[in-house]
Amino acid sequence: MTEAMRRVIGETRARVPFDLPSARVCTGNCQGCSMKLLEFLGAELDAWESRLDGGETPGFEDLSGLIRTATRVYRVLERNGLVDGPGLP
Ligand code: SF4
Repeated sequence: MTEAMRRVIGETRARVPFDLPSARVCTGNCQGCSMKLLEFLGAELDAWESRLDGGETPGFEDLSGLIRTATRVYRVLERNGLVDGPGLP
C-alpha cells in the first residue's frame, strides 16, 4: 500500500500544475478557487510524504481518500481551463 500511495503522489505531482504562476491561476473567472485547491492538495501530498517517510503504512481508505481529493481538485482545475491532460488515474 505504501508503494501505491507513493505512485499516486508522484502521478498527481506530475499531472497537477503546482508551479503555475498566480497570474495564470487567477483568471478572475473562477468556478471554484483553483489557488486554494492547489495549496490544499499540495499540503496533502506533502503531509502524506512525511508520514510515509516516517514509516507509516497507509490503509486502503487513506489511498482512496487521497485519490478522491486529487480527482476533485483536478476537475475544478479542468473547469477553470488550467489542465487538459488525460486526468488522474
Ligand atoms: S477565486 Fe481563487 S483562483 Fe480565482 S481569482 Fe480568486 S484567488 Fe484566484
